[in-house]
Amino acid sequence: MIVLKFGGTSVGNATNIKKVANIVNAYQESKIVVLSAVSGTTNSLVNINNLLAEHKKEEAILLTNELELTYHTLIDGLFSSEYYQLKALTFIRNSFDYLRSLTNNGVENEKIILAQGEIISTNLFQIYQAQLGNESKLISALDFMSIDEHGEPDMKNIQNKLNTILNQESNHNTYITQGYICKNNVEEIDNLKRGGSDYTASLIGAAIKASEIQIWTDIDGMHNNDPRFVENTFSIDEITFDEAAELAYFGAKILHPQSIIPAQKNNIPVLLKNTFNPNDKGTIIKNCENSKGVRAIAAKDNIIAIKIKSYRMLMAYGFLKNIFEVFEKYQTAIDMITTSEIAVSLTIDDATYLKKITEELQVFGNVEVDKQMSIICLAGNFSQSGKGISASVINCLKDIPIRMISYGGSNYNMSLLVITDDKVNALNLLNEGLFVQKQLQEV
Ligand code: ASP
Ligand code: MG
Repeated sequence: MIVLKFGGTSVGNATNIKKVANIVNAYQESKIVVLSAVSGTTNSLVNINNLLAEHKKEEAILLTNELELTYHTLIDGLFSSEYYQLKALTFIRNSFDYLRSLTNNGVENEKIILAQGEIISTNLFQIYQAQLGNESKLISALDFMSIDEHGEPDMKNIQNKLNTILNQESNHNTYITQGYICKNNVEEIDNLKRGGSDYTASLIGAAIKASEIQIWTDIDGMHNNDPRFVENTFSIDEITFDEAAELAYFGAKILHPQSIIPAQKNNIPVLLKNTFNPNDKGTIIKNCENSKGVRAIAAKDNIIAIKIKSYRMLMAYGFLKNIFEVFEKYQTAIDMITTSEIAVSLTIDDATYLKKITEELQVFGNVEVDKQMSIICLAGNFSQSGKGISASVINCLKDIPIRMISYGGSNYNMSLLVITDDKVNALNLLNEGLFVQKQLQEV
């Protein structure tokens, strides 16, 4: 079996949903189709919930009505048969009546409200498949996708429940289910956090030991550099799980970072494809050969660098532990770390508790904070055997001030911290030095 996941833009309007159906129906083998909510819907649902939290019930209802209207346009474009059009309209009417009824209880229904986006997109897709004359089975993610008390996927449970459902309903070729939504350890509706549909696809792939997980978005796979800031980037044919994980975390927005883990653990290839250019090969993430040097570059903004300097750190133990405890207390993840004998620099991307963190760190030494920084992540093969790669990276950036360098944490990553104003320049210089020049030499 294969898993095909389509993001919000891929199901964003009638034309796109038709493209999705074409792609899905071209696969003969049995498959599970995972859908995101129609693009914009989850944001609207978040806004509706925020309005309820501010006791602005009327405005919440107005926004709900507005959102309902967008589905009328979608249904108009999608259904040619009156029978199926009516079916879809009735479904939408009921869904939105339900949403409006939820607004009576303030914010206590947040997770239920957020879940409606995926419930709607999957139901509309199934009705559309029926109009096309294609048999398919809608299975509710709420019946098998579960998280534990820490909010982490409960893999055993997911595996048992999903395989039981598939065994009971074994006579179908196409199963459709929702991304993102799940039940928590007390059986309430919950979710895998924003952007979590990729994670759903990967968890399903792992649970059924799929032969492949396909993630369909609106770009041709992973690029060697950020196409928004660098010209002539190209999509990468293949990349290892480790390299992809580094990139996904450090800004290559194409894939939810956690979604690589279940696929990697089960050695299931993940194929990244473009719904709007299905003939492009895309990028395959799998156990492949390590790259010869740098495979790809990505950047992540809104990084805060914190430096703690203290002569007490000199030859002392326990200093880092004390510092890390502050971050643990405020549940703030550290991304990069570099140390010298008398100072440590680290970065965070979540500023929620910055003030409290810096106050507490002052106990340990002199604290400096730099905001508006960007991490530039280079993924590739940095193992000891590869000579000269780090030198060429640094050489590319000889005219750009580098605030931190992290190298050797894994064999697959080198990260550099620069001020965000220098980011675009740095990405272009790296592209020129690491890809363009190299290609010229190879010709
Ligand atoms: N619909 C959810 C979101 O917008 C989940 C997803 O699309 O992956 O975050
Ligand atoms: Mg996404």
